Amino acid sequence: MQRVTGPVPSSPAATAKMRANRRRDTGPELALRRSLHRRGLRFRKDFRVATAARSVRVDVAFPALRLAIFVDGCFWHSCPEHASVPKANADYWIPKLAENVARDRRNDLDLSEAGWTVVRLWEHESVDAMATRVGDCVDHLRSRAPALRTPP
Ligand SMILES: [Zn+2]
Repeated sequence: MQRVTGPVPSSPAATAKMRANRRRDTGPELALRRSLHRRGLRFRKDFRVATAARSVRVDVAFPALRLAIFVDGCFWHSCPEHASVPKANADYWIPKLAENVARDRRNDLDLSEAGWTVVRLWEHESVDAMATRVGDCVDHLRSRAPALRTPP
C-alpha cells in the first residue's frame, strides 16, 4: 500500500475522490480476480517479486509463469483517456502523478529483466476484456514453458 502523503484534501469532494482512488483492492481488481477464479485460473494477489533493483508488488501474479498483471487506476497511473489532475494542490499532484508513471515504467523494466512478462490493464476496461487478455497470456506462456508441457 502506498501512503498518500501531502496536502490535506481541499474539500469533502476531494477527500471522496482520493478515497475512491485507493490503489489496492479496487473494485476493478476484485472483479478481475473473481473472473479469473471462475475461469479456473489460480494466482497470487499482491505478490512481491524481488528484482535485481528492488522489490516490486504485483497486483495479480502467476509465479510459475512469471506473469505479472497490474490493474492500473486511471487517476493514479494517468490513463490517457481519463487522466486528470485535481485543480486544488496541482503543484503537489502533477509531480506526484508523474512519479507514479515513472515508477511503473521502472517496475516494468526491472520485472522484464528478471524474466517476467508484464501485462498492464486499465481499470476502465471491461472485466471480460481484462480476464480474456490474462487468460490468453497464461495459455501462451504455458504453451512455451517446456517444463509444464506434458512429455510425449
Ligand atoms: Zn481510464
